[in-house]
Amino acid sequence: MTLLAELAAAIGPDHVLAGPAGAPFLTDWRRRYTGRAAAVVRPASTAEVARVVGICLRHGAPMVPQGGNTGLAGGATPDDSGRAVVISLARMNRIRAVDPLNDTLVAEAGCVLQAVQDAARQAGRLFPLSLASEGSCTIGGNLSTNAGGTQVLRYGNARELALGLEVVTPDGEIWNGLRGLRKDNTGYHLRDLYLGAEGTLGIITAATLRLFPLPAAQCVALAALGTLDDALALLARARSGFDAALTAFEIMSGASLDVVVRAFPRQRVPLAPAPWYALLELSDSEGEAHARERFERVLTAALDDGVVRDVAIAESLAQGKALWHLRESISEAQAAEGKNIKHDIAVPTSAIPAFVAATDALLERWLPGVRHVTFGHLGDGNLHYNVSRPESMPEAGFLARQDQVYRLVHDSVQAHGGSISAEHGIGQLRRDELPRYKSPVEMALMRRLKQALDPRGLMNPGKVLPPPARFARPP
Ligand code: FAD
Repeated sequence: MTLLAELAAAIGPDHVLAGPAGAPFLTDWRRRYTGRAAAVVRPASTAEVARVVGICLRHGAPMVPQGGNTGLAGGATPDDSGRAVVISLARMNRIRAVDPLNDTLVAEAGCVLQAVQDAARQAGRLFPLSLASEGSCTIGGNLSTNAGGTQVLRYGNARELALGLEVVTPDGEIWNGLRGLRKDNTGYHLRDLYLGAEGTLGIITAATLRLFPLPAAQCVALAALGTLDDALALLARARSGFDAALTAFEIMSGASLDVVVRAFPRQRVPLAPAPWYALLELSDSEGEAHARERFERVLTAALDDGVVRDVAIAESLAQGKALWHLRESISEAQAAEGKNIKHDIAVPTSAIPAFVAATDALLERWLPGVRHVTFGHLGDGNLHYNVSRPESMPEAGFLARQDQVYRLVHDSVQAHGGSISAEHGIGQLRRDELPRYKSPVEMALMRRLKQALDPRGLMNPGKVLPPPARFARPP
């Protein structure tokens, strides 16, 4: 039988898409990559995923797992050979179990993140992973990219929210590791291998996730700041003043908010112009009045001491949402002004002011008039360091310099002890840069792991690890 006939027999012909029906699965969210595929398949159960993998193995067909296709590194898009089978997990969307006493929930990989949050809330619990793409991305994709988002400061990233996994291996076997245990020292922790592996070691079909108490109230504030050093000083005060109640500490440059207001004139920044702004969120177990009182105490002291220039504390849920909306609109507003060169970097939080000063200066020397749109999760040391073209430079000429901009920024990241991908992953976007920033020993260990778990190299090939010929460390 042909590959397509076997797949149709295994999961039903309606769920094997070829030709134009499969097209929406072949281009990534940013429209940066478009691939081709022999088929897009939509299995509905773990057993069907295992059957699909077994068939692909027999036919030597590469497999590309896909969740909500919101990834920003091109990890879910096949190459243009037309040989791959894209395996969409979207139909695996059941919440299998909720255990409020164990504070766990078992979700299938294709559950949309928002549906997982809703299921937790219905059980009176919180699933805290939160991203702007939460209405479309899936929990399988979140775990495979080790997604971050806005609540990492308090609850950790996706890796820290998964207690157990169910995985279909590249051999088509099913590993049921759906343990809801917080302590389990019984040898190598296989779970951690699959988290953040971007589908290169196997397909996650379900996960046991950690739940938390729902906060009684959430309070949001915006602070205007003179410098990034002030931002770090405010972060230190907020951490010691609020402890675990501080659930977000985001930073936005004044230029980032200018871009938002230009693109969306109905949005308003409730403070006078400033070089930097911090967005703080407090989740309180005692209620709104208590949260506000705590905010006022710490932020008034910061004002009195000159750490912040001005502060707006949201008076209502709607005002809090409007402040978050400013932060969440930056990417879309920047896209409305044309293409820009994006970096998703991490450095130790204490190194952020030095990193930004040094990298801004290097770029300005090399590309006079370049515009910096810098924002991100300051509390996690994670910046979205985006670079827009000088106004006088045509877009094509600016984008032609993209690889040099990446090199300059990422070399600076490395010099400051950082990582070239904080939360979006490597995919195909950063794949060829990886050997420059990881040691040969680390790259060799990663390659040996891949070889051991996926000896035929059929599981999402061309993602994360460069093909062997390109594996040598570039000069
Ligand atoms: P996909 O895009 O479908 O896949 C991503 C990778 O995971 C691919 O390599 C794919 O092969 C693999 N994969 C998917 N499902 C599985 C599976 N079941 N088993 C094995 N491998 C699998 N990311 C952040 O970290 N923080 C943010 O704040 C954030 N904000 C975003 C905002 C917007 C507007 C957008 C569009 C994206 C944002 N992202 C963010 C990126 C993206 O949403 C995340 O990477 C998300 O985790 C991807 O989930 P997905 O289901 O869409 O995965």
